[in-house]
Amino acid sequence: MINIAETQRKFHKKGLTRGIDERVFQLRKLKNIILASQSDIYSALEKDLGKCQIESYMTEVGITINEIDFMIKNIKRLSKYKRVKTPFIFLGGSSFIVPEPYGTVLIIGPWNYPFQLVMLPLAGAIAAGNCAVVKPSELSPNVSNVITQIINENFEKEYIVSVEGGVETSEQLLSQKFDYIFYTGSTNVGRIVMEAAAKNLTPVTLELGGKSPCIVDKETNLDNAAKRIMWGKLINCGQTCVAPDYLFVHKEIKDELIKRIISSIHELYGSDPINSEQYSKIINERHFNRLVALINNQNIIYGGQHNIEELKISPTIIYPVSTDSKIMQDEIFGPILPIMEYEDLNEVIEFINDRPKPLALYFFSNNKSNVKKVISSTSSGGVCINDTINHITNAYLPFGGVGDSGIGNYHGVATFDTFSHKKSILKNQIAFDFKLKYPPYKVSVNLM
Ligand code: NAD
Repeated sequence: MINIAETQRKFHKKGLTRGIDERVFQLRKLKNIILASQSDIYSALEKDLGKCQIESYMTEVGITINEIDFMIKNIKRLSKYKRVKTPFIFLGGSSFIVPEPYGTVLIIGPWNYPFQLVMLPLAGAIAAGNCAVVKPSELSPNVSNVITQIINENFEKEYIVSVEGGVETSEQLLSQKFDYIFYTGSTNVGRIVMEAAAKNLTPVTLELGGKSPCIVDKETNLDNAAKRIMWGKLINCGQTCVAPDYLFVHKEIKDELIKRIISSIHELYGSDPINSEQYSKIINERHFNRLVALINNQNIIYGGQHNIEELKISPTIIYPVSTDSKIMQDEIFGPILPIMEYEDLNEVIEFINDRPKPLALYFFSNNKSNVKKVISSTSSGGVCINDTINHITNAYLPFGGVGDSGIGNYHGVATFDTFSHKKSILKNQIAFDFKLKYPPYKVSVNLM
């Protein structure tokens, strides 16, 4: 493989990507190409993940276009010098923070939202004035192909390029010296990426996964809670990094909530959800078999049907579940919801705090002090109260993990910041000086 990072670095040094007008031009160009390629994108998402068009628009194309629009609208404000205070000792001087592009950025994407998880960071890299290499996931080959067409047929490879391939390609790219690496995927591979980046002292954003808990208090609207939980669980057939992974429900409302969870599955996907045209499929046979193994020997109270030819698994509810079982160890990443009951919120908090820090935490409650307690006594990438997933759609909220669920964040303002180095500038005056600053010093330090 040629040293793409080096080729792009040489190009970046020419300064052509730095001008604000040029960045806006490239963002508009990317937006227009995406809009013109919509039918190819939808058909690729249908082939790779069985996603219906409306879900593909909402979760892949629409969210990318929104982010590009946000960058275009806010780029002037985000990229300008920010004046800050200057200490008295530098009287007559001034201080600024200026965002500057890192140079060349490597973006490695996963297969679950294969379009937006590559394109959204790419929009940020362009907006911040960088060159970029993207490596889409090999497990969603049709989308990887469309991304490559969109990029490689319309942009100079010295500026933006898509490189297709699997682990080996990823390793080759990681052996090159990039100025920034933006990785989305599993926690284990995140460790490999960070190790490779450390060799070149390259800064990283790691958008990782994990088990995101969902808690339902007894003081809530059960109909809306059930529907919002199942929407978040079943979108993309559960293959969402911020899907509610498992559910804790207060003992007093457990039976009622389970009834409503089942009726909300029917409301969302009909009485035969596995065959609904709007219900996606599992990405491949390996993940299908992994998920089927997870529900074997479990107490399935709803669903459990699966069809290997079509890689489909029905929405599946498990109750009760042992905390020692495999399904409660690793991220599920499929349409299966294990449910546990609780009596004391403190026990739930302890359970969460005894495990790796999640990417998202969901709490349904009208009780203000319980909401405050959950927020202040747990740690997670983000929290969404009385809803699932939607906190990541607000461009004014940074999205990212903490601990095992990731390092750094993006979306909206945070995307621009992620791809910009904040350069500090002190501009002193040159007309006069304070002699006290220099040796030989005339004062002594009073240690008392
Ligand atoms: P993955 O880690 O297997 O693959 C992600 C990317 O890394 C792919 O492009 C792949 O080619 C590359 N890769 C795989 N093994 C590698 C290796 N040994 N060395 C270098 N590169 C390698 O992840 P995945 O299965 O595609 O995605 C699922 C995971 O991603 C889940 O854990 C999910 O929670 C997480 N995820 C997180 C977010 C987020 O925003 N935080 C979003 C989506 C998915």
